[in-house]
Order: sequence, then structure tokens, then C-alpha cells
Amino acid sequence: MRLVLLGPPGAGKGTHAQVLSKELGVAHVSTGDMLREALKKQTPLGVKAKAFMEKGALVPDEIVIALVKERLSNGDAKKGFILDGFPRTPEQATRLDENLEVLRMPLDLVLYFKTSLSVIIRRLSGRRVCSRCGKNYHIKNFKPKRDGICDACGAALVQRPDDREETIENRLKVYDKETSPLIDYYKRKNLLAEVSGDLEVKELNLQMKKLFRSKDL
Ligand code: AMP
Repeated sequence: MRLVLLGPPGAGKGTHAQVLSKELGVAHVSTGDMLREALKKQTPLGVKAKAFMEKGALVPDEIVIALVKERLSNGDAKKGFILDGFPRTPEQATRLDENLEVLRMPLDLVLYFKTSLSVIIRRLSGRRVCSRCGKNYHIKNFKPKRDGICDACGAALVQRPDDREETIENRLKVYDKETSPLIDYYKRKNLLAEVSGDLEVKELNLQMKKLFRSKDL
């Protein structure tokens, strides 16, 4: 299955991509995770992306498009993939289409996580991520087994610097201006299905799997 998860920051895309990629046996491709990894390792790409990410601005299209292009040509993406946080601009979306056409791997579905503002704020301010493997948690809704410790790798959980209140506001503005036009873009291509990002993780996961079955995916 080849999916795009579309929606504002805090809609739950990362959490659901994590769960679904395991259940479906497909690659989880998160540009945010890839960029954070590059930043941690201080690669030239990470150094370039740093200032944009810290402000909650988008990293230039060319950088992320090249990242995703390389990632999708890897063997594991041939079995299917879930794109989480990409595309985020019309330019990224058209370039993705071109790449996927060359690879003969068209998208099956774009899930739009429609999410209310109060839920977004609550999610982002309570989100914690693993400092080593990047797995997502929430201090109330998606707790680790041991407080402050990642279930998957045992490292400490931290707050993302861009989940601070001042940056959240900018990220939401950027989403409205740059990314929300993609809802119509995929609607026109008949690929869009809307789900509620307000739902609890388990409930939405069940709903999405029902949706996949109804579409024979
Ligand atoms: P995320 O983890 O998806 O919320 O992404 C965190 C940050 O990484 C964003 O606020 C952007 O600065 C950057 N980023 C992630 N994905 C993209 C993308 N597709 N295009 C541009 N910037 C991105």
C-alpha cells in the first residue's frame, strides 16, 4: 500500500504512521524524522535545515524532494510506504507525482487528518519523543510503559524544540498557507479520504483499516 498522511502538525500523522507501517509491513517515510536525524548527526543537510526547523518554517523544497526521491528508490519502499509530513507544498506534490510515475508506484490513497485546533494544541504541548530513535509519545494519551523512557530503545524522552508554544503558532500558519491547498489537489485526483484526527489512536486506527478494506487496499 502506498499512502500519504496529510494534515496539520499535531494531527497524529506520525503516531499513526508508526503503528500502520508495522501492521501493514510498509516503510514509514517521515521527512521530519529524516531531517532531525541529519540535524543530530550535523550532516551538511542537517546544518542547512536547522534554522528553518527551529523557526517552524519549511525547509526548501529542493532539499526535501531530493531526500524523499532517494528514500523511495530504496528496496524497502517497493513493498509500499507511508509518507508522513511530505508533501507539504504544491511543488513537492507535483514532483512526488513525477517521481512515482517514473518508479511506476502510484499512490493508493491520501488520508487527510481533519483536526480541531484545541486537539492540536493539546497534542503538541504534551508530545514527547525519544532522543535516540524518535518514537512519539504523549504525556497523557500515549504514555510509555516507564515514565520518560522509550519503550522501543530505553533512551530518554524529550520535548521537541519546535513543539514550544511560540513555534507552534508559526507552524500552524505555515500549514494553512503552504500545505492546506494539497487537500484540494488530492481531492481533484480522487485520492483523498478524510478521517478525524481528533479520535483516539486505537479508534482511528480501526477506522482506517476498515476504510482500506472498503477500498480493497
Ligand atoms: P514534522 O516532524 O513533520 O512536524 O517536521 C518538523 C519540521 O521539519 C517542519 O516544521 C519543517 O521545518 C521540516 N519539514 C518536515 N517535512 C518537511 C517538508 N515536507 N517540507 C519542508 N519542511 C519539512
